[in-house]
Amino acid sequence: MNEKEYILKIYQLLDEQSEKEIIFLENRDPFQFLISVILSAQTTDRIVNIVTKDLFLKYPNAKTLAKAKVEDVEQIIKPTGFYKVKAKNIINCSKALIDKSVSEEIDELIKLPGVGRKTANCVIGDIYNKGAVIVDTHVKRVLNRLKIVNEKDPTKIEMKVKSLLEDKYLYRFSMTVNLHGRRYCHARKPNCKDCYLKELCPSKDE
Ligand code: SF4
Repeated sequence: MNEKEYILKIYQLLDEQSEKEIIFLENRDPFQFLISVILSAQTTDRIVNIVTKDLFLKYPNAKTLAKAKVEDVEQIIKPTGFYKVKAKNIINCSKALIDKSVSEEIDELIKLPGVGRKTANCVIGDIYNKGAVIVDTHVKRVLNRLKIVNEKDPTKIEMKVKSLLEDKYLYRFSMTVNLHGRRYCHARKPNCKDCYLKELCPSKDE
């Protein structure tokens, strides 16, 4: 099996074994989704979904959030942690987006305050249904254990996966790899015994 056949086989198994729809963040409006992803750093999606209900009730779009008082935004988003930096970022991001739509292009998205490749890829994959690879700590760990990559740098991992798999599979692939990391391939003690990828995985029981 060559590299492309191997990753496709892994993808097919992950796809079969994962729920059809994987939704982490509830807001589907591109602006609200982008802000939610920025807030999701270092916290859980559950907390983001709770906090953004209040946030978007008061400030539903870029125009209103751009004019918000930073102290008020800090108070609302406090449960997400790192709230001072996040409040500044989401207000500045809103200022940059007044009367503009959220771009579908990664190079444009990463120019926005508080938006890195991971956040940009979430928007591109989740909202615009275009080829995107989200590389977080789970994806990095699982792909290294599966030896799809031998790499720690997220951008290089993203590029490698993009070179191996068709665009239409990329986003779901990274989402299902993420779930696999949370459910089976844990950082400390992977559950190789119950893992449905074990027949293919070069790191099983290591
Ligand atoms: S067999 Fe073990 S190391 Fe390999 S993907 Fe499954 S849980 Fe992770």
